[in-house]
Amino acid sequence: MALDAPSASFFSPWPDRLRHSAIILLAAGIALAVLVAFGELSPLRAGAVFVCIAAAALVPWRLHNVATSREDVRGITSPVETAAVSAIVAGMPDPAVLLDRAGRVIHLNAAAAQLAPALRKNELAQFALRSPEIISALREAIATTEPRRATYLDHVPVDRWMELIITPVPVPTLFGGTEKCMLMTFHDQTPLRRVEEMRADFVANASHELRTPLAALSGFIDTLQGPAKEDAKARERFLGIMHTQATRMARLIDDLLSLSRVELSAHVRPDTLVDIVPIIRQVADGLEPLARERQVTIDIQLPESPVVIAGDREELLRLFENLIENALKYGASGGKVIVSLVAAVSGEGVPEVRVMVRDFGPGIAPEHLPRLTERFYRVDVGDSRAQGGTGLGLSLVKHIVNRHRGRLLIESVPKHGATFTACFPQAKTPASA
Ligand code: ADP
Repeated sequence: MALDAPSASFFSPWPDRLRHSAIILLAAGIALAVLVAFGELSPLRAGAVFVCIAAAALVPWRLHNVATSREDVRGITSPVETAAVSAIVAGMPDPAVLLDRAGRVIHLNAAAAQLAPALRKNELAQFALRSPEIISALREAIATTEPRRATYLDHVPVDRWMELIITPVPVPTLFGGTEKCMLMTFHDQTPLRRVEEMRADFVANASHELRTPLAALSGFIDTLQGPAKEDAKARERFLGIMHTQATRMARLIDDLLSLSRVELSAHVRPDTLVDIVPIIRQVADGLEPLARERQVTIDIQLPESPVVIAGDREELLRLFENLIENALKYGASGGKVIVSLVAAVSGEGVPEVRVMVRDFGPGIAPEHLPRLTERFYRVDVGDSRAQGGTGLGLSLVKHIVNRHRGRLLIESVPKHGATFTACFPQAKTPASA
């Protein structure tokens, strides 16, 4: 389907440059013949003039063809097909295609050829792109000479969402004029779309997590105002449950705020030097009551001397609290949690400090490991809720570790427990520098 296809004529099948030369020669021939017929010019002179005009019309075309490669010669169909135009299209960082007014491809760069392999030089782009939205955007851009936008979806090898912008551009031709062309550029919107989807998922998850305890609270309030108004025993029990639900909501809001704070400052690496030994000890001591309640012993294996890293004290407290609390909650059946600190060297040869939290509980099946740090991801939603979990703890841990330019390693053998290791680059103290 050609849009605004050029009208067919005797010259149409000829290459453009040859067509123009032929028209010049025809006109010159007719003029000279008329002059000869009226006796104004001798046939010999007319012949000489014609040869000069023919040379002027054909030699540049011939020279141009000799200068270009065979492959280019075969592809040349448009007067805008100059080296400068093709260099500009080829140099554009995004996929770009230059089309003539009929929608036929004049130039396309490597990125465009890779994105839409069906696009071919001298063929209609509409055949290759086939989307009704793109075809009508192209039609409108040609008709109105105003830019138009459309969406280009690619599903192979992965889903990609591209914004296609069609901009009418007047391109200088080889003969000094301009030709109205369409520059079609593709802009990858996939990362933006993913972020948008994640944001929507996050809001949906957060609202759902908040609505559940809220629904329980308002249900109990109704019961206490109605049927259980005079029932002191039920009131005691319901108030206990309401307290748990309110605590859960408060914890969720706390985690959400911490997560957003850490995310906001993700690009700023903490630069205060802190000794992490007392931080870990403080967290472990604070969790002693929970450990007693779960009948778990916390075995702390920390060096006597200070271990200094560049860090944010409050964030490190949250990080170790989450890891040790998880080990106590989910690994309680193992009866023991080991918290240890060692100095090591990363794969890239960077000296680092590793804090390991190891439990001997049921462990985590391998298919869950890569997703554990996603927000609201839980292996067992019921179990997490029963433990007062929000599904945000490990996500927060991961963000804190990242902000400290460290790494989080999770290893687990089902039935043999899990080990969470937070690795931090060793601080460059004046002594070590
Ligand atoms: P939650 O608030 O649910 O504890 P987290 O992000 O801290 O959220 O943990 C995500 C999930 O990872 C938990 O729901 C739990 O299923 C699993 N998990 C975390 N730590 C452990 C552990 N030490 N042993 C077994 N499973 C764990």
